[in-house]
Amino acid sequence: MNKWYVSIGIVLIIGCVLSISMYLGPHQTEPATDNSEITTIPEDVLLEDREHQQAIEITKDDVHSGHLLLINQDYGLVPGNEAPDIIQLSKHPDFSNRFVLLDQATELSEHVAQQFSIMINAAAGEGISSFLISSGYRSAEKQNELFESLGPEQAMPGGHSEHNHGSAIDVGSSQGGIEHSPEGKWLREHAAQYGFILRYPKNKTHITGIQYEPWHFRYVGLPHSLIMSQKDFVLEEYLSYLKEQPFLSFKTDEETFHIYYYPVSENQTIYVGQDNTYTVSGNNTDGVIITEKVD
Ligand SMILES: [Zn+2]
Repeated sequence: MNKWYVSIGIVLIIGCVLSISMYLGPHQTEPATDNSEITTIPEDVLLEDREHQQAIEITKDDVHSGHLLLINQDYGLVPGNEAPDIIQLSKHPDFSNRFVLLDQATELSEHVAQQFSIMINAAAGEGISSFLISSGYRSAEKQNELFESLGPEQAMPGGHSEHNHGSAIDVGSSQGGIEHSPEGKWLREHAAQYGFILRYPKNKTHITGIQYEPWHFRYVGLPHSLIMSQKDFVLEEYLSYLKEQPFLSFKTDEETFHIYYYPVSENQTIYVGQDNTYTVSGNNTDGVIITEKVD
């Protein structure tokens, strides 16, 4: 065959491949470190077929409750918006028989305790089992007492600690300091698979404003912890990212989630798929994040 025809043929083939991939790929895809994949959802896809969807009524109060709340120096927990399911751990041996409680009065959100218990059962399966809990939920009043006695270097004022919400746990190891213990190492590697994040990592103190705390784990839920882990985001960075990419799809081998961020200045209706389960969490600043599990 003439070289000229061969060249034209190659150009045509490359052109076809490019147009097919552009046709198939209106979503921006970025590679993930494991088999999961994060893509953006085009708005026309999101908005189509609303009559077959379920409506969620969102109010301004929703901005200030949920598992993705940003609680730090700048944003305090709105009084009354702590997790609604605070329990005393020692009264629930089904959760607490796998770890040592430094204080029998320690309280935590029941949902968070359940997820923590699932996580450390998995660790126990790998022979890592010397976990202890040194702190869980603290009331805003208790936080203020700590603030008064320890000072601003070591404690936040009432309402500005994640412990005031009930979804943060200070985890230790009975084998020694958590950072160099097998428990600490296991948590750093696996916590994201169970919805937890190391909230104040060493390399992000300039963003969190908090010193490195290898013991402080925060529950944010799946798949948020996985995305934060993949992208090496702390919560401040992740919530900013969701504002830039307000319609995301996150796909693992087993499940697909859609994550939507909506600014909320007034009551409004948001739609998700008819039979899909979903959660709503505020970001505590200006909007809500809807997490929809898609079949
Ligand atoms: Zn803590």
